[in-house]
Amino acid sequence: MNFLMGNELIAIGAYHSGVTSAYAYPGTPSSEILEAYSHYAKGCYSQWSINEKIAFELAAAEAISGKFAMCSMKQVGLNVAADPLFSVAYTGVKGALIIVSADDPGPYSSQTEQDSRMYAFSAKIPVFDPINPVDAYELTKKGVELSHKFEIPVMIRPVMRVCHSRQSFDIQVEKSEYNYGNFEKDVSRWAATPKYRKVLHAKLNEKLEIISSTYYQNYKINRKNKFAVVGSGYSFAIVMDIVKEKKLDIDLYKFDMSFPLPAALLDELINRYEKILVIEETQPLIEIQFARKDKIFGRLNDFITKMGELTYDYLTEKLFNFIGKEFKINKNQDFKAKGVKPRLCPGCGHRPAFYAIKKVAKNKGIFPGDIGCYTLGVNLDAVDTCICMGASVTFAEGLSRSNPEKTIIATIGDSTFFHTGIPALINAVINDAKFVLCILDNETTAMTGFQPVPHESGKIKIEKVVEGIGIEFCKVVDPYKFEEGIKVLEEAVSFVESNRKPAVVVYRHPCVTKIKYRKKNDVVITDDCRNCRICYEKFECPAIFENKLKNKAEIDRLICVNCGVCISVCPFNAIVRNSE
Ligand code: SF4
Ligand code: SF4
Repeated sequence: MNFLMGNELIAIGAYHSGVTSAYAYPGTPSSEILEAYSHYAKGCYSQWSINEKIAFELAAAEAISGKFAMCSMKQVGLNVAADPLFSVAYTGVKGALIIVSADDPGPYSSQTEQDSRMYAFSAKIPVFDPINPVDAYELTKKGVELSHKFEIPVMIRPVMRVCHSRQSFDIQVEKSEYNYGNFEKDVSRWAATPKYRKVLHAKLNEKLEIISSTYYQNYKINRKNKFAVVGSGYSFAIVMDIVKEKKLDIDLYKFDMSFPLPAALLDELINRYEKILVIEETQPLIEIQFARKDKIFGRLNDFITKMGELTYDYLTEKLFNFIGKEFKINKNQDFKAKGVKPRLCPGCGHRPAFYAIKKVAKNKGIFPGDIGCYTLGVNLDAVDTCICMGASVTFAEGLSRSNPEKTIIATIGDSTFFHTGIPALINAVINDAKFVLCILDNETTAMTGFQPVPHESGKIKIEKVVEGIGIEFCKVVDPYKFEEGIKVLEEAVSFVESNRKPAVVVYRHPCVTKIKYRKKNDVVITDDCRNCRICYEKFECPAIFENKLKNKAEIDRLICVNCGVCISVCPFNAIVRNSE
């Protein structure tokens, strides 16, 4: 028996049902799916793609060749893949296509808490919403089967609690053979013009009708109480626990597939019960499919909150209220852990790069930022905007046009640059945008678990790409070389001012977790320290703290990596490297 994570069980479920190719772009909470797939699915193909659109399209191309393929991403990644999603819903597939879009109600590590199931609804494809890891395994298998049977893409939507929780599971994994597909030409389907698209849309509607009625044809309604709760996903698993523990007189109806639901089944539920509460995260997808709303309690009548994760305490109170009983959470027992502010790691090369940006821009700077570890530049006052992947570059162009007197310095990571930064930079070049783009290259996708980056292959170089798209000023510098990092950025800013064109500085230093500095002599703080706070508040290295008793800064030897970057930051030369 193994104790496996939800993401592992999704990967194994896909593998067990014949998926032989998997594509993904990393993003919490989905990243472990591809890692697990490449671990368990021996003999199969897996790829970290440049972005989610590419991952989706690669999987779709295999699926229209008769293969069983999967692509996985986090919910905001689905926004990037939405264009082909809507189109492939019409064309359908030949083999099977599973899209795993992992949601983050809360949100805990995302810019939104959007509900991927609404994309499935809008694109008109079935979506499964597992309640726990083993359910995720079973529903992935059902999803692959359904996709193949009806030649339709199918979505699996686990939330973070399903992705990252663990459950006992007995796995038997055998080696499978990578098989080739066989693409059969049919332009009326695969290259459909609007005339054929209309036909495909009608077929898609027919498929959904058949899927909803056949999937739920043996679903039983067994009324024992006056009230029922229907729902899907992790929040419904909590409801199941509460109803059992508190012995509540409520009937429960779990819907594996939250869309499409058969209208007749929903009507029957309405007719049989006095009141129905719908529990799902985070949008009312099941709820909107009920034709009659008069007996329905949920988000649409404001009974359930329209945002945030549905917790055990919250749902307990709501379930009691729903059946007309009082229940108040004892707020004193509501344990809240003290949060720790996220900061860049000790020795992170992004820190001196941000410090250089601040120093060069002085008080004239606007700093568009992006998605990744370096979003934490916000703590260093070196990130002013953070919208979505690649938006630092487009925001830099827009901000430079509307704020011509300001010094615009944008930051983007290496992985994000390839993900969506390049088209934005091309746009900036052809429109003579006035800003400096700093590409913070740590040679990995660090935030999501060190997935590979394109230039790691050695087949492509960031600076060559930058030069190739027409950037005339592009310099590479190691941010650990503090003074040089500042000098190069000053040159870039003055190039932008005089030439009214964008410039690029690549700050390249490998992620600190990949390097060991400890062999070097220790970096220490001497008694020359005047406790000006710059090193631990403005520079914010987590290894430096204030010793209040001594009224000076000190270095925590356990976490300091002896990178030595703080040496240049101290205005009183109090930080030094010990001699032998
Ligand atoms: S920057 Fe220098 S003087 Fe200021 S607190 Fe740090 S070590 Fe002390
Ligand atoms: S040497 Fe300085 S900057 Fe580097 S980890 Fe240690 S305290 Fe932080």
